[in-house]
Amino acid sequence: WSSVELTQHFLDRIKRLDPNYNSFITLTEDVALAQAKAADARLAQGDTNPLCGVPIAHKDIFCTQGVKTTCGSKMLDNFISPYDATVVANFQAAGAVMLGKTNMDEFAMGSSNETSFYGPVKNPWDIGCVPGGSSGGSAAAVAARLAPGATATDTGGSIRQPAALCGLTGLKPTYGRVSRWGMIAFASSLDQAGPMTRTAEDAALMLNTMASYDPKDSTNIDRAVPDYTAQLNDSLAGLTLGVPKEYFGEGLHPGTQAAVEAAIKQYEAMGATIKSISLPHSHLAVPAYYVIAPAECSANLSRFDGVRYGYRCENPADLADLYKRSRGEAFGEEVQRRILVGTYCLSAGYYDAYYRKAQKVRRLIKQDFVDAFSEVDLIIGPTSPSPAFAFGAKGADPIAMYLEDIYTIATNLAGLPGMSLPCGLVDNKPVGLQIIGNYFDEARMLNAAHQFQ
Ligand code: GLN
Repeated sequence: WSSVELTQHFLDRIKRLDPNYNSFITLTEDVALAQAKAADARLAQGDTNPLCGVPIAHKDIFCTQGVKTTCGSKMLDNFISPYDATVVANFQAAGAVMLGKTNMDEFAMGSSNETSFYGPVKNPWDIGCVPGGSSGGSAAAVAARLAPGATATDTGGSIRQPAALCGLTGLKPTYGRVSRWGMIAFASSLDQAGPMTRTAEDAALMLNTMASYDPKDSTNIDRAVPDYTAQLNDSLAGLTLGVPKEYFGEGLHPGTQAAVEAAIKQYEAMGATIKSISLPHSHLAVPAYYVIAPAECSANLSRFDGVRYGYRCENPADLADLYKRSRGEAFGEEVQRRILVGTYCLSAGYYDAYYRKAQKVRRLIKQDFVDAFSEVDLIIGPTSPSPAFAFGAKGADPIAMYLEDIYTIATNLAGLPGMSLPCGLVDNKPVGLQIIGNYFDEARMLNAAHQFQ
Protein backbone atom coordinates (compact mmCIF):
# COMPACT_ATOMS: atom_id res chain seq x y z
CA TRP A 1 0.00 0.00 0.00
CA SER A 2 1.09 3.57 -0.64
CA SER A 3 0.97 6.00 2.26
CA VAL A 4 -1.89 7.84 0.57
CA GLU A 5 -3.93 4.61 0.37
CA LEU A 6 -3.09 3.69 3.95
CA THR A 7 -3.95 7.17 5.19
CA GLN A 8 -7.23 7.17 3.26
CA HIS A 9 -8.07 3.78 4.80
CA PHE A 10 -7.68 5.12 8.33
CA LEU A 11 -9.47 8.40 7.54
CA ASP A 12 -12.42 6.39 6.19
CA ARG A 13 -12.47 4.20 9.29
CA ILE A 14 -12.39 7.24 11.58
CA LYS A 15 -15.29 8.88 9.71
CA ARG A 16 -17.32 5.68 9.72
CA LEU A 17 -16.61 4.41 13.24
CA ASP A 18 -15.52 7.27 15.48
CA PRO A 19 -19.07 8.55 16.07
CA ASN A 20 -19.29 5.42 18.29
CA TYR A 21 -16.20 6.31 20.36
CA ASN A 22 -15.60 10.09 20.17
CA SER A 23 -11.85 9.50 20.24
CA PHE A 24 -10.96 12.43 17.94
CA ILE A 25 -11.49 16.13 18.60
CA THR A 26 -10.08 17.21 15.23
CA LEU A 27 -9.59 15.22 12.05
CA THR A 28 -6.81 16.71 9.89
CA GLU A 29 -7.74 15.14 6.59
CA ASP A 30 -6.08 17.67 4.27
CA VAL A 31 -2.86 17.78 6.28
CA ALA A 32 -2.79 13.98 6.42
CA LEU A 33 -3.24 13.49 2.68
CA ALA A 34 -0.61 16.13 1.85
CA GLN A 35 1.85 14.53 4.29
CA ALA A 36 1.08 11.08 2.88
CA LYS A 37 1.80 12.29 -0.64
CA ALA A 38 5.10 13.77 0.49
CA ALA A 39 5.92 10.51 2.31
CA ASP A 40 5.22 8.47 -0.84
CA ALA A 41 7.69 10.68 -2.71
CA ARG A 42 10.30 10.10 0.01
CA LEU A 43 9.69 6.34 -0.08
CA ALA A 44 10.07 6.32 -3.86
CA GLN A 45 13.48 7.92 -3.34
CA GLY A 46 14.51 5.12 -0.98
CA ASP A 47 13.70 6.60 2.46
CA THR A 48 14.08 3.72 4.94
CA ASN A 49 12.68 5.33 8.09
CA PRO A 50 10.20 2.69 9.36
CA LEU A 51 7.70 5.44 10.24
CA CYS A 52 7.86 7.18 6.86
CA GLY A 53 4.31 7.18 5.50
CA VAL A 54 2.78 5.67 8.65
CA PRO A 55 -0.36 7.49 9.87
CA ILE A 56 -0.58 8.29 13.59
CA ALA A 57 -2.77 10.42 15.87
CA HIS A 58 -1.60 13.05 18.35
CA LYS A 59 -3.13 13.67 21.75
CA ASP A 60 -4.65 17.15 21.67
CA ILE A 61 -2.16 18.33 24.31
CA PHE A 62 0.60 18.67 21.67
CA CYS A 63 0.75 21.97 19.82
CA THR A 64 0.31 21.56 16.08
CA GLN A 65 1.01 24.50 13.82
CA GLY A 66 -2.11 25.77 12.04
CA VAL A 67 -4.28 23.07 13.61
CA LYS A 68 -6.57 23.58 16.63
CA THR A 69 -5.00 22.46 19.93
CA THR A 70 -7.61 22.34 22.69
CA CYS A 71 -6.19 20.25 25.56
CA GLY A 72 -9.77 19.02 25.96
CA SER A 73 -10.86 22.42 27.31
CA LYS A 74 -13.32 25.14 26.41
CA MET A 75 -10.47 27.48 27.37
CA LEU A 76 -8.56 26.52 24.20
CA ASP A 77 -11.53 25.74 21.95
CA ASN A 78 -10.42 28.58 19.65
CA PHE A 79 -6.63 28.11 19.98
CA ILE A 80 -4.58 27.54 16.85
CA SER A 81 -0.95 27.00 17.72
CA PRO A 82 1.65 29.05 15.82
CA TYR A 83 4.22 26.26 16.19
CA ASP A 84 4.67 22.49 16.43
CA ALA A 85 5.63 20.66 19.63
CA THR A 86 9.04 18.99 19.36
CA VAL A 87 7.37 15.56 19.49
CA VAL A 88 5.14 16.51 16.55
CA ALA A 89 8.11 17.95 14.64
CA ASN A 90 10.11 14.75 15.25
CA PHE A 91 7.35 12.63 13.71
CA GLN A 92 7.09 15.00 10.79
CA ALA A 93 10.83 14.78 10.21
CA ALA A 94 10.52 10.97 10.18
CA GLY A 95 7.83 11.23 7.47
CA ALA A 96 4.92 10.10 9.68
CA VAL A 97 1.42 11.30 8.79
CA MET A 98 -0.89 13.12 11.27
CA LEU A 99 -4.48 11.82 11.09
CA GLY A 100 -5.84 14.16 13.73
CA LYS A 101 -5.92 15.21 17.37
CA THR A 102 -7.31 12.88 20.01
CA ASN A 103 -9.74 13.54 22.83
CA MET A 104 -8.53 13.74 26.43
CA ASP A 105 -9.49 14.74 29.95
CA GLU A 106 -9.43 18.52 30.31
CA PHE A 107 -5.80 19.61 30.72
CA ALA A 108 -4.96 15.90 31.24
CA MET A 109 -6.66 15.84 34.66
CA GLY A 110 -8.58 12.62 35.07
CA SER A 111 -8.54 8.85 34.76
CA SER A 112 -11.69 8.22 32.75
CA ASN A 113 -11.92 10.80 29.97
CA GLU A 114 -15.15 12.09 31.46
CA THR A 115 -13.81 15.63 32.05
CA SER A 116 -13.30 16.57 28.38
CA PHE A 117 -15.17 19.63 27.09
CA TYR A 118 -15.75 17.54 23.94
CA GLY A 119 -17.62 14.79 25.73
CA PRO A 120 -16.56 11.41 27.07
CA VAL A 121 -14.64 8.82 25.04
CA LYS A 122 -16.06 5.30 24.91
CA ASN A 123 -14.02 2.15 25.39
CA PRO A 124 -14.10 0.10 22.16
CA TRP A 125 -14.15 -3.12 24.23
CA ASP A 126 -17.41 -2.08 25.89
CA ILE A 127 -18.98 1.24 24.98
CA GLY A 128 -20.71 1.41 28.36
CA CYS A 129 -17.29 1.72 29.96
CA VAL A 130 -14.62 4.41 30.15
CA PRO A 131 -11.38 4.02 28.18
CA GLY A 132 -9.33 5.38 31.10
CA GLY A 133 -7.62 8.72 31.04
CA SER A 134 -6.36 11.20 30.49
CA SER A 135 -5.13 9.85 27.13
CA GLY A 136 -8.41 8.00 26.54
CA GLY A 137 -8.86 9.33 23.00
CA SER A 138 -5.45 8.03 21.93
CA ALA A 139 -6.21 4.67 23.57
CA ALA A 140 -9.68 4.27 22.05
CA ALA A 141 -8.40 5.30 18.60
CA VAL A 142 -5.66 2.66 18.60
CA ALA A 143 -7.87 -0.01 20.19
CA ALA A 144 -10.60 0.56 17.56
CA ARG A 145 -7.95 0.39 14.81
CA LEU A 146 -8.60 4.00 13.81
CA ALA A 147 -4.84 4.62 13.99
CA PRO A 148 -1.91 2.20 14.21
CA GLY A 149 -0.34 4.28 16.99
CA ALA A 150 -0.83 7.51 18.88
CA THR A 151 1.07 9.90 21.09
CA ALA A 152 0.01 10.32 24.71
CA THR A 153 1.23 11.91 27.94
CA ASP A 154 1.56 10.64 31.48
CA THR A 155 1.70 12.81 34.61
CA GLY A 156 0.44 10.18 37.05
CA GLY A 157 -0.62 7.29 34.84
CA SER A 158 -2.32 8.79 31.79
CA ILE A 159 -0.50 6.63 29.25
CA ARG A 160 -0.38 3.39 31.22
CA GLN A 161 -3.89 3.30 32.73
CA PRO A 162 -5.80 3.90 29.45
CA ALA A 163 -3.45 1.45 27.70
CA ALA A 164 -4.38 -1.12 30.37
CA LEU A 165 -8.12 -0.46 30.10
CA CYS A 166 -8.05 -0.65 26.28
CA GLY A 167 -5.75 -3.66 25.89
CA LEU A 168 -2.77 -1.74 24.50
CA THR A 169 0.92 -1.21 25.06
CA GLY A 170 1.75 2.23 26.45
CA LEU A 171 5.08 3.54 27.65
CA LYS A 172 5.97 6.51 29.84
CA PRO A 173 9.69 7.16 29.37
CA THR A 174 12.18 8.37 31.99
CA TYR A 175 11.54 12.00 32.90
CA GLY A 176 13.67 14.08 30.52
CA ARG A 177 13.87 11.47 27.74
CA VAL A 178 11.26 13.14 25.52
CA SER A 179 11.02 16.90 25.01
CA ARG A 180 8.11 18.66 26.69
CA TRP A 181 8.41 21.69 24.42
CA GLY A 182 5.03 22.50 22.91
CA MET A 183 3.27 19.97 25.13
CA ILE A 184 0.77 21.94 27.21
CA ALA A 185 2.00 21.75 30.81
CA PHE A 186 -0.05 20.20 33.60
CA ALA A 187 2.57 19.40 36.29
CA SER A 188 5.95 20.17 34.75
CA SER A 189 8.08 18.01 37.06
CA LEU A 190 5.92 14.93 36.32
CA ASP A 191 4.71 15.28 32.70
CA GLN A 192 6.28 13.02 30.11
CA ALA A 193 5.16 12.01 26.60
CA GLY A 194 5.23 8.48 25.23
CA PRO A 195 3.72 6.12 22.66
CA MET A 196 0.43 4.21 22.73
CA THR A 197 0.50 1.22 20.40
CA ARG A 198 -0.67 -2.34 19.94
CA THR A 199 2.72 -3.97 20.53
CA ALA A 200 6.03 -3.35 22.27
CA GLU A 201 7.76 -3.41 18.90
CA ASP A 202 5.58 -0.53 17.66
CA ALA A 203 6.20 1.33 20.91
CA ALA A 204 9.97 0.93 20.38
CA LEU A 205 9.68 2.29 16.85
CA MET A 206 7.69 5.30 18.02
CA LEU A 207 10.01 5.95 20.97
CA ASN A 208 12.98 5.99 18.58
CA THR A 209 11.38 9.04 16.99
CA MET A 210 9.89 10.69 20.09
CA ALA A 211 13.08 10.67 22.16
CA SER A 212 15.52 13.42 21.31
CA TYR A 213 17.68 16.06 22.91
CA ASP A 214 15.95 19.41 22.74
CA PRO A 215 17.65 22.51 24.16
CA LYS A 216 14.22 24.23 24.13
CA ASP A 217 13.18 22.07 27.12
CA SER A 218 15.55 22.77 30.02
CA THR A 219 14.58 19.51 31.76
CA ASN A 220 15.28 17.39 28.68
CA ILE A 221 18.46 15.32 29.01
CA ASP A 222 21.34 15.38 26.55
CA ARG A 223 21.90 11.67 26.18
CA ALA A 224 22.27 9.55 23.06
CA VAL A 225 19.02 7.88 21.93
CA PRO A 226 19.61 4.13 21.57
CA ASP A 227 17.78 2.02 19.00
CA TYR A 228 14.92 0.80 21.20
CA THR A 229 14.25 -2.13 18.87
CA ALA A 230 17.79 -3.54 19.23
CA GLN A 231 17.19 -5.63 22.37
CA LEU A 232 13.63 -6.77 21.67
CA ASN A 233 14.63 -10.36 20.99
CA ASP A 234 17.13 -10.83 23.80
CA SER A 235 16.55 -13.78 26.12
CA LEU A 236 15.09 -13.09 29.55
CA ALA A 237 17.27 -15.73 31.19
CA GLY A 238 19.16 -14.19 34.08
CA LEU A 239 16.79 -11.24 34.44
CA THR A 240 15.54 -10.50 37.96
CA LEU A 241 12.00 -9.17 38.25
CA GLY A 242 10.85 -7.58 41.50
CA VAL A 243 7.25 -7.94 42.61
CA PRO A 244 6.31 -5.26 45.17
CA LYS A 245 4.13 -6.69 47.90
CA GLU A 246 2.42 -3.29 48.34
CA TYR A 247 0.92 -3.59 44.84
CA PHE A 248 -1.21 -6.60 45.75
CA GLY A 249 -3.18 -5.22 48.69
CA GLU A 250 -6.68 -4.04 49.35
CA GLY A 251 -8.59 -2.58 46.39
CA LEU A 252 -7.04 -4.86 43.75
CA HIS A 253 -9.73 -6.63 41.69
CA PRO A 254 -9.34 -10.41 42.13
CA GLY A 255 -9.55 -10.98 38.36
CA THR A 256 -6.81 -8.41 37.76
CA GLN A 257 -4.70 -10.02 40.46
CA ALA A 258 -5.12 -13.47 38.92
CA ALA A 259 -4.15 -12.25 35.44
CA VAL A 260 -1.07 -10.45 36.76
CA GLU A 261 -0.01 -13.48 38.83
CA ALA A 262 -0.36 -15.70 35.76
CA ALA A 263 1.85 -13.26 33.83
CA ILE A 264 4.49 -13.41 36.56
CA LYS A 265 4.46 -17.23 36.31
CA GLN A 266 4.94 -16.93 32.57
CA TYR A 267 8.00 -14.72 33.11
CA GLU A 268 9.40 -17.35 35.44
CA ALA A 269 8.84 -19.98 32.75
CA MET A 270 10.75 -17.77 30.31
CA GLY A 271 13.81 -17.87 32.55
CA ALA A 272 13.42 -14.78 34.71
CA THR A 273 14.01 -14.90 38.45
CA ILE A 274 11.11 -13.55 40.49
CA LYS A 275 11.89 -11.75 43.72
CA SER A 276 9.43 -10.35 46.23
CA ILE A 277 10.33 -6.76 47.15
CA SER A 278 8.97 -3.92 49.24
CA LEU A 279 8.40 -0.28 48.29
CA PRO A 280 7.52 0.84 51.81
CA HIS A 281 6.33 4.37 51.04
CA SER A 282 3.88 3.28 48.29
CA HIS A 283 0.84 4.31 50.33
CA LEU A 284 2.09 7.93 50.35
CA ALA A 285 2.33 8.28 46.57
CA VAL A 286 -1.29 9.31 45.86
CA PRO A 287 -1.44 11.87 48.72
CA ALA A 288 1.94 13.39 47.75
CA TYR A 289 0.93 13.55 44.08
CA TYR A 290 -2.35 15.30 44.89
CA VAL A 291 -0.39 18.10 46.56
CA ILE A 292 2.47 18.40 44.05
CA ALA A 293 0.46 18.02 40.80
CA PRO A 294 -2.22 20.59 41.77
CA ALA A 295 0.48 22.98 43.06
CA GLU A 296 2.28 22.87 39.72
CA CYS A 297 -0.97 23.01 37.75
CA SER A 298 -2.12 26.11 39.63
CA ALA A 299 1.06 27.87 38.49
CA ASN A 300 0.99 26.49 34.93
CA LEU A 301 -2.67 27.31 34.32
CA SER A 302 -2.30 30.91 35.53
CA ARG A 303 -1.33 31.79 31.94
CA PHE A 304 -4.95 31.27 30.86
CA ASP A 305 -6.20 34.68 31.93
CA GLY A 306 -8.53 35.67 29.10
CA VAL A 307 -6.03 38.28 27.91
CA ARG A 308 -3.36 36.64 25.80
CA TYR A 309 -5.09 33.72 24.12
CA GLY A 310 -7.87 31.26 24.72
CA TYR A 311 -11.39 31.96 25.97
CA ARG A 312 -12.44 35.50 26.95
CA CYS A 313 -15.76 36.25 28.69
CA GLU A 314 -18.22 38.70 27.19
CA ASN A 315 -18.28 42.36 28.31
CA PRO A 316 -15.99 42.27 31.35
CA ALA A 317 -16.63 45.10 33.83
CA ASP A 318 -12.94 45.45 34.71
CA LEU A 319 -9.70 43.45 34.71
CA ALA A 320 -10.56 41.38 37.80
CA ASP A 321 -13.95 40.51 36.30
CA LEU A 322 -12.22 39.52 33.04
CA TYR A 323 -9.92 37.10 34.87
CA LYS A 324 -12.61 35.66 37.11
CA ARG A 325 -15.28 35.11 34.53
CA SER A 326 -12.98 33.93 31.73
CA ARG A 327 -11.49 31.29 34.02
CA GLY A 328 -14.76 30.50 35.76
CA GLU A 329 -16.65 30.02 32.49
CA ALA A 330 -13.98 28.11 30.58
CA PHE A 331 -12.41 25.75 33.13
CA GLY A 332 -14.38 22.64 34.11
CA GLU A 333 -15.05 21.46 37.63
CA GLU A 334 -12.04 19.14 38.01
CA VAL A 335 -9.60 21.75 36.69
CA GLN A 336 -11.01 24.35 39.08
CA ARG A 337 -10.75 21.88 41.97
CA ARG A 338 -7.06 21.28 41.21
CA ILE A 339 -6.29 25.00 40.90
CA LEU A 340 -7.96 25.68 44.26
CA VAL A 341 -6.13 22.82 46.01
CA GLY A 342 -2.81 23.83 44.45
CA THR A 343 -3.13 27.50 45.31
CA TYR A 344 -4.05 26.59 48.88
CA CYS A 345 -1.05 24.24 49.28
CA LEU A 346 1.33 26.91 48.01
CA SER A 347 -0.03 29.80 50.05
CA ALA A 348 1.89 31.38 52.94
CA GLY A 349 1.37 29.39 56.12
CA TYR A 350 0.46 26.17 54.31
CA TYR A 351 3.50 25.77 52.07
CA ASP A 352 5.61 24.03 54.74
CA ALA A 353 2.75 21.88 55.99
CA TYR A 354 1.70 20.58 52.57
CA TYR A 355 3.99 21.39 49.68
CA ARG A 356 7.36 20.99 51.41
CA LYS A 357 6.13 17.87 53.20
CA ALA A 358 4.96 16.35 49.91
CA GLN A 359 8.38 17.03 48.37
CA LYS A 360 10.06 15.22 51.27
CA VAL A 361 7.73 12.25 50.76
CA ARG A 362 8.58 12.33 47.06
CA ARG A 363 12.26 11.92 47.96
CA LEU A 364 11.45 8.88 50.15
CA ILE A 365 9.43 7.31 47.32
CA LYS A 366 12.33 7.78 44.93
CA GLN A 367 14.69 6.18 47.48
CA ASP A 368 12.41 3.10 47.70
CA PHE A 369 12.97 2.55 43.98
CA VAL A 370 16.72 3.24 44.14
CA ASP A 371 16.97 0.57 46.88
CA ALA A 372 14.80 -1.87 44.89
CA PHE A 373 16.85 -1.45 41.72
CA SER A 374 20.01 -2.40 43.61
CA GLU A 375 18.49 -5.92 43.77
CA VAL A 376 16.30 -6.30 40.67
CA ASP A 377 16.40 -5.37 36.96
CA LEU A 378 12.72 -4.55 36.48
CA ILE A 379 9.66 -4.27 38.70
CA ILE A 380 6.34 -5.85 37.64
CA GLY A 381 2.80 -5.69 38.94
CA PRO A 382 -0.66 -4.47 38.01
CA THR A 383 -1.13 -1.20 36.09
CA SER A 384 -4.50 -0.28 37.53
CA PRO A 385 -6.60 -1.77 40.33
CA SER A 386 -9.46 -2.98 38.11
CA PRO A 387 -10.56 -3.31 34.48
CA ALA A 388 -12.57 -0.58 32.71
CA PHE A 389 -15.47 0.74 34.79
CA ALA A 390 -18.87 2.15 33.78
CA PHE A 391 -19.44 5.84 33.02
CA GLY A 392 -20.33 7.76 36.14
CA ALA A 393 -19.12 4.98 38.44
CA LYS A 394 -16.41 7.14 40.01
CA GLY A 395 -17.43 10.57 38.77
CA ALA A 396 -19.06 11.72 41.98
CA ASP A 397 -16.12 10.78 44.16
CA PRO A 398 -12.80 12.43 43.26
CA ILE A 399 -10.89 10.23 45.72
CA ALA A 400 -12.15 6.99 44.12
CA MET A 401 -11.01 8.38 40.78
CA TYR A 402 -7.61 9.39 42.20
CA LEU A 403 -7.04 5.81 43.41
CA GLU A 404 -7.10 4.60 39.79
CA ASP A 405 -3.46 5.67 39.64
CA ILE A 406 -2.36 4.04 42.89
CA TYR A 407 0.20 1.81 41.10
CA THR A 408 1.36 4.28 38.45
CA ILE A 409 1.85 7.58 40.29
CA ALA A 410 5.00 6.67 42.26
CA THR A 411 6.85 6.16 38.98
CA ASN A 412 6.16 9.78 37.95
CA LEU A 413 7.18 11.10 41.38
CA ALA A 414 10.49 9.20 41.03
CA GLY A 415 10.95 10.14 37.33
CA LEU A 416 11.27 6.46 36.36
CA PRO A 417 10.05 4.85 33.12
CA GLY A 418 6.96 2.65 33.28
CA MET A 419 4.88 0.79 30.76
CA SER A 420 1.70 -1.24 30.53
CA LEU A 421 1.07 -4.22 28.29
CA PRO A 422 -1.98 -6.44 27.95
CA CYS A 423 -1.88 -9.62 30.05
CA GLY A 424 -5.36 -11.10 29.85
CA LEU A 425 -9.07 -10.47 30.11
CA VAL A 426 -11.51 -10.25 33.02
CA ASP A 427 -15.21 -10.25 32.08
CA ASN A 428 -14.09 -9.67 28.49
CA LYS A 429 -12.20 -6.52 29.47
CA PRO A 430 -8.43 -6.15 29.19
CA VAL A 431 -6.03 -6.24 32.13
CA GLY A 432 -2.71 -4.37 32.07
CA LEU A 433 0.62 -5.62 33.38
CA GLN A 434 2.92 -2.84 34.50
CA ILE A 435 6.69 -2.95 34.05
CA ILE A 436 8.77 -0.30 35.81
CA GLY A 437 12.40 0.14 34.80
CA ASN A 438 15.44 1.88 36.18
CA TYR A 439 16.34 5.32 34.78
CA PHE A 440 16.82 5.21 30.99
CA ASP A 441 16.28 1.44 30.90
CA GLU A 442 13.40 1.61 28.40
CA ALA A 443 15.10 -0.87 26.04
CA ARG A 444 15.10 -3.58 28.73
CA MET A 445 11.42 -2.92 29.54
CA LEU A 446 10.53 -3.20 25.86
CA ASN A 447 12.54 -6.44 25.64
CA ALA A 448 10.56 -7.93 28.54
CA ALA A 449 7.25 -6.76 27.02
CA HIS A 450 8.09 -8.05 23.53
CA GLN A 451 9.07 -11.49 24.85
CA PHE A 452 5.77 -11.71 26.71
CA GLN A 453 3.79 -10.80 23.58
N1 GLN B 1 -5.23 10.57 36.76
C1 GLN B 1 -4.15 11.44 37.17
C2 GLN B 1 -4.68 12.83 37.39
O1 GLN B 1 -5.83 13.02 37.23
C3 GLN B 1 -3.04 11.42 36.18
C4 GLN B 1 -3.35 12.18 34.95
C5 GLN B 1 -2.20 12.18 34.00
O2 GLN B 1 -1.32 11.35 34.07
N2 GLN B 1 -2.19 13.20 33.14
O3 GLN B 1 -3.96 13.73 37.71
